[in-house]
Amino acid sequence: MVDLHGQYLKIKDEVDSAIQKVIDSTAFIRGEDVREFQKELSAYLDIKHTIACGNGTDALQVAMMALELQPGDEVITTPFTFIATVEVIRLLGLKPVFVDVRPDTFNLDPELLEQAVTDRTRAIVPVHLFGQCADMESIMEFAGRHGLYVIEDNAQALGADFLPANGSKQKAGTIGHLGCTSFFPSKNLGAFGDGGALFTNDDSLGQRAASLVNHGMQKRYYYDHVGVNSRLDTLQAAILRVKLQHLDDYHRLRQEAATWYDTSLSGIEGLHTPVRSPFTSHIFHQYTLQVEASSRDALKQWLMEKGIPSQVYYPVPLHLQQAYRDLGYGKGSLPASEELCNKVLSLPIHTEMEQKQLEYISEQVHQYFKA
Ligand SMILES: *Cc1c(COP(=O)(O)O)cnc(C)c1O
Repeated sequence: MVDLHGQYLKIKDEVDSAIQKVIDSTAFIRGEDVREFQKELSAYLDIKHTIACGNGTDALQVAMMALELQPGDEVITTPFTFIATVEVIRLLGLKPVFVDVRPDTFNLDPELLEQAVTDRTRAIVPVHLFGQCADMESIMEFAGRHGLYVIEDNAQALGADFLPANGSKQKAGTIGHLGCTSFFPSKNLGAFGDGGALFTNDDSLGQRAASLVNHGMQKRYYYDHVGVNSRLDTLQAAILRVKLQHLDDYHRLRQEAATWYDTSLSGIEGLHTPVRSPFTSHIFHQYTLQVEASSRDALKQWLMEKGIPSQVYYPVPLHLQQAYRDLGYGKGSLPASEELCNKVLSLPIHTEMEQKQLEYISEQVHQYFKA
């Protein structure tokens, strides 16, 4: 699905020397590269504070801790996402409230927020799934009207542009009160291990988050909040500084592959290429087709036999996962997400795709629908 080794080889000299410098300095924790990476990512995103941490899941948890959400508070999110989004809500004793997604864009449907809000609702966590923004204009408007916090799960859309109707431009993850991202190796900006970060323009939230990721420490060995140990390794920061310089190129390469797929796979009956929302660029963390449910698994099998990997992100909506059954959502309660789980299929997309690979994949998809 990705070619991380091929990507590394193209920047090997830069990466290797960055790694060697960290080893020579032995500043493995909270080293210079971490501070520099935070500054550079803040500049790239045009945000005041970037707080690096251990992974994207921790970023989400720390965001909720920084907002001082209390056990029993309700947090609205989507059931069509990676488990981390809802896991941290649960771990903090908060109550996840699921709102269904739009079947075309896979992102939270703002029109369904009204019926989910109660007097215990404190926050909304939209997920910018597969590389494009959720409808942040509607979500922010709704949140403002109800006095709710917005935490953007931006693990899959770091660097995507949010393009509201007034003609302005903002980076995904910088629109809500806090944004969170992941540097898991397969993400668009991937480390050589785990990593994550939070973003905010709010000084006091930024300070609190920075303290929370380091045990809630303010002055050395003085603790004002109960925190966690979640730091980005200096080695990872050094690698990410190199890769950040290439991130826009990486996005462009993914977009080119996506555009090529769009054209070559258009017009196949029973198959829909991804829908692009008008208010966001799309950085194609995933290229996700919708296939008639009756043929999705067979297409996946067909491709596998031709040596082509494909993946189902995600096979089971979170409200129907065993661990979350006690929330009381039955089958049929969030129909768009449930249906998508039977229809989605993601094709390989990455920065090292070659024209002949794209052609081969497209040809095999066409063959399947002809057969
Ligand atoms: C990857 C991902 C996360 C979690 O990030 P980790 O760094 O793996 O902890 C959270 N939310 C979404 C939507 C993700 O894709």
